[in-house]
Amino acid sequence: MPVDATQPYDPDNIFAKILRGEIPCDRVYEDDYALAFHDIAKQAPTHILVIPRGAYVGWDDFSARASEAEIAGFVRAVGTVARNAGLVAPGYRLLANSGIDAGQEVPHLHVHLFAGKSLGPMLA
Ligand code: C5P
Repeated sequence: MPVDATQPYDPDNIFAKILRGEIPCDRVYEDDYALAFHDIAKQAPTHILVIPRGAYVGWDDFSARASEAEIAGFVRAVGTVARNAGLVAPGYRLLANSGIDAGQEVPHLHVHLFAGKSLGPMLA
């Protein structure tokens, strides 16, 4: 069931549980603002999810409510994950599904990082 991005944050969503350590993940990076882990159903040779530590359903409430420090910290974390994985030169793709038409499945903001092959043209 796709996420309605206008709904309140569900503190029991699966990524909230991962952040609290209640469910394991294959962690690649963490700092004060973000956690990154390998997607369990990868769609590219490298498929990492980066999530903010704060309670945000998607891009809308994150961009509207997060502090400057949270936004900067999250954006920096995404870049750091890509840099640490050696992806700057070969390149990578970032994608954030937000809401029903995008098919967002998990109601905690996440950025997909795809890499490891030529990814081809964007699909709309
Ligand atoms: O953007 P969207 O919400 O559709 O993507 C959710 C992603 O979270 C999926 O790629 C799914 O494989 C991933 N996932 C995960 N670990 C879980 C649950 C979902 O990596 N425990």
